[in-house]
Amino acid sequence: MQAKKGIAILGSTGSIGTQALEVIEAHPDLFDLQVITAKQNSTLLIEQALKFKPNAVVIVDDSEYQKVKDALWSEEIHVYGGADALNQVVEFKEIEVVLTAMVGYAGLEPTMSAIRAKKNIALANKETLVVAGDVITKEAQKYGVNIYPVDSEHSAIFQCLAGEFHNTIEKIYLTASGGPFRGYSMAKLRSVTKEQALKHPNWEMGQKITIDSATMMNKGLEVIEAKWLFNLKPEQIDVIVHPQSIVHSIVQFDDGSMKAQMGLPDMKLPIQYSLTYPNRVASSFPRFNFLDYPSLNFEGVDQSVFTNLQLAYDCLHVGGTSACILNAANEVAVDAFLKERISFIDIQNINQEALQSIDPIANPTLETYLEVDLITRKKVTEIIGSIS
Ligand code: NDP
Ligand code: MG
Repeated sequence: MQAKKGIAILGSTGSIGTQALEVIEAHPDLFDLQVITAKQNSTLLIEQALKFKPNAVVIVDDSEYQKVKDALWSEEIHVYGGADALNQVVEFKEIEVVLTAMVGYAGLEPTMSAIRAKKNIALANKETLVVAGDVITKEAQKYGVNIYPVDSEHSAIFQCLAGEFHNTIEKIYLTASGGPFRGYSMAKLRSVTKEQALKHPNWEMGQKITIDSATMMNKGLEVIEAKWLFNLKPEQIDVIVHPQSIVHSIVQFDDGSMKAQMGLPDMKLPIQYSLTYPNRVASSFPRFNFLDYPSLNFEGVDQSVFTNLQLAYDCLHVGGTSACILNAANEVAVDAFLKERISFIDIQNINQEALQSIDPIANPTLETYLEVDLITRKKVTEIIGSIS
């Protein structure tokens, strides 16, 4: 019998994290859950730890540490507190794959630590590749680490490429649902509320990515993510709106043939594939029925309204730290929108202003990214202060 695969889930209490635990629970013969982590949701982390009995848990928020420690004292589970502990737990020798399911820039350092500890990465945390794709991919190569995409579009491309790795990709099409405001004019977009923005038509996700989907920033981040995962030029990456979210993405090869990966929108499938690659294992996920979807539609993105997508392409052309600036600006702006300090449309305007007012730096190191992230956050906080 094959040994079970040791798994760490960074961000086990989130949307991706909890779905990953469902996948692991369904396959006790395949996986050995070693580590789970949360930022502050100690109640759910404790519940998960008591159920799955991992080797260790990390609670990033120190003020929740004692609660977790007390709840797990009688179990043989190590409890750590603070963000730094994330960098240490990923090094455990029993871990083979680290699923990065935390949200935002905070994923960068633990992902880097996991790569340096020679752990394969199941990457949900797209912000890591957006911020520092060149450093991450170089380090992964240096340490012989594979990065398996979890994002549904990138998993689709990855699945289409199975058996095709030596064939030339002409281009890829990343599909986008269009979010809750598809077809809106700029005037209509000005008055949308937080509640409307948090209602995604097809996917149940964490708040940050749900807002990113509504602003189309998510697709912009995914364009940058695709560049690094599949080594593509900006002109090889196209985005097409597909409101039903059944075709998860498409690869077009240089003979003109196109391969698409399809299925009902359910993140458990790409999560599972990232953990079992190159194998597929049986699942009970609901199956797609063609008769429920007599037509699948495709349309262009209205870039005159949703300007974030072009900003992402601009960053690909400029290179250096520009995508790091875009990501940091967007994280601060989305947070301010969720706190109802700025309007929906402000998010994309702030992203644009940040890119215009901060000069990108060429050939950055990891330290450069950390600095630029801080500078951008400070600048954007000032911008928000001046408008709210
Ligand atoms: P959630 O907000 O639902 O979950 C985030 C998880 O990360 C939680 O466990 C949270 O802990 C933890 N976390 C948050 N901030 C920090 C921090 N600063 N340090 C350490 N841990 C932290 O997010 P999602 O699951 O929706 O998304 C996770 C990532 O996956 C994102 O990068 C997203 O873009 C990507 N993704 C998500 C998809 C989805 O369907 N949800 C689809 C494709 C990609 P706590 O609960 O304690 O706050
Ligand atoms: Mg996606």
